[in-house]
Amino acid sequence: MAASNAPDVRVRFAPSPTGLLHIGGLRTALYNYLFARKHAGTFILRIEDTDRTRYVEEAEQDIREALRWVGLAYDEGPEIGGPHAPYYQSQRKDLYQRYAQQLVEAGHAYYAFDTEEEIEAMRERRKKEGQAAPKYDALTRTEMRNSLTLPAEEVERLLEEGTEHVIRLKVSRGETVRFEDVVRGHVSFETAGIDDQVLIKSDGMPTYHLANVVDDHRMQITHVIRGEEWLSSTPKHVLLYRYLGWEPPVMAHLPLILSPEGGKLSKRDADELGIPVFVKDYREAGYEPEALVNFLALLGWNPGTEQEIFTLEGLVEAFSLERVGSSGVQFDLDKLQWFNQQHLRAKSPAELAERARPYLEAEGLDPEADYLEAVIDLVQDRIHRIEEVATTNRFFFEDPETYEEKGVKKRWKSDSAELVRAYADRLERLDGFDTDAIEAELRDLADECGVGAGRIIHPTRLSVSGLSYGPGLFSMMAVLGKDTCIRRMRRAAEVLG
Ligand code: GLU
Repeated sequence: MAASNAPDVRVRFAPSPTGLLHIGGLRTALYNYLFARKHAGTFILRIEDTDRTRYVEEAEQDIREALRWVGLAYDEGPEIGGPHAPYYQSQRKDLYQRYAQQLVEAGHAYYAFDTEEEIEAMRERRKKEGQAAPKYDALTRTEMRNSLTLPAEEVERLLEEGTEHVIRLKVSRGETVRFEDVVRGHVSFETAGIDDQVLIKSDGMPTYHLANVVDDHRMQITHVIRGEEWLSSTPKHVLLYRYLGWEPPVMAHLPLILSPEGGKLSKRDADELGIPVFVKDYREAGYEPEALVNFLALLGWNPGTEQEIFTLEGLVEAFSLERVGSSGVQFDLDKLQWFNQQHLRAKSPAELAERARPYLEAEGLDPEADYLEAVIDLVQDRIHRIEEVATTNRFFFEDPETYEEKGVKKRWKSDSAELVRAYADRLERLDGFDTDAIEAELRDLADECGVGAGRIIHPTRLSVSGLSYGPGLFSMMAVLGKDTCIRRMRRAAEVLG
């Protein structure tokens, strides 16, 4: 292999703990993880918790739990540490202060003492003068109270007295900020549209922009992979890198996740369409983590082949940022169901038995391990979600108390009770109770009575499961066992008459 001077890949997932992790956030984490593993690099978790007003206590726990659930292990981060600890921005305050200071000294940032009211008054004034969307920028900063307009002694005095202030980035007008994005190609923004960003807030905490840039640099992040909603922040970051004299990392902005009906998938749309938004909801709904990962991987990326089913390792192997698309991708819940089914099929009955246990327990069911595995072996290809072992397949663990109305209407004929009883009598005399023997008895009986096999199969199915659909009848009966089948058949004959 040719020697390369490129630095080792280091990427980060940098969520703000402002609420439960949503699927879009998990996709960002996944792409970072895949990219890191693909390049034998480092995947970092950094908690961007500088906005204390939006801080949610349980959020960090939820983020970590979500990552653990789907198997995205990070190499550096909170609780495990690393060479750039701490990985909480709230604990790195002094660092941001230092760089803000450096920017002020270099003339790229300044102190601003204006109150909310003063800023509002400026906006009103400007609007009256006909300016459409006035902001604190090169056009207006000259009429505000800041270290660019006030005499140096006054600035010093205000600072010494501890007057409330912020530090703002001095963005010059009439410039075009350009950068290359791996996903979007060439991107440019006019500085005229960017206001003098607050870098340090009045509580001394940095804003997202400053903290993000400082940490990405200090943590030697080589690639920033994040959602498209951050694209408009990037020119501000590019300016910060430039003013701080640093090389910006490679940028890759992932396409928006769209509603199945088009448009950005908002929480409200999702609720209306029955699409879970939070990762936790998927876990609780019993989706396989492998399926969710597979689904999210293909929500914005494609392998360039027909292959659809991937394990996490397979994704690492196949992943590349070059194959991430730039146009929005529609969320398709049916597709996720399909992935879930495929990943269920790929697991062993023993694995699935373990997965199904909590759902059975929640239903008050506690089947023997061997029996449960036999049931799963039979239904594995039919279920879409693991919880169905305990719901639609409940009859494997408990005699049915009711019989599906539609099925009874259609399948339970005047001679059904008699045929089911006769079949039960025959089964009772059987020595073994295997699929073939069970079937042979039914066919013999059908011949003897001069009826089609269906005439016995359907009522028998209703009798033993309470349902008109399910796995193959004879295998199902073999798993249920002789006593259970006969008991259920006799009861149904009596109840349904
Ligand atoms: N804290 C930001 C978030 O919540 C990070 C954005 C970025 O990756 O730069 O997503």
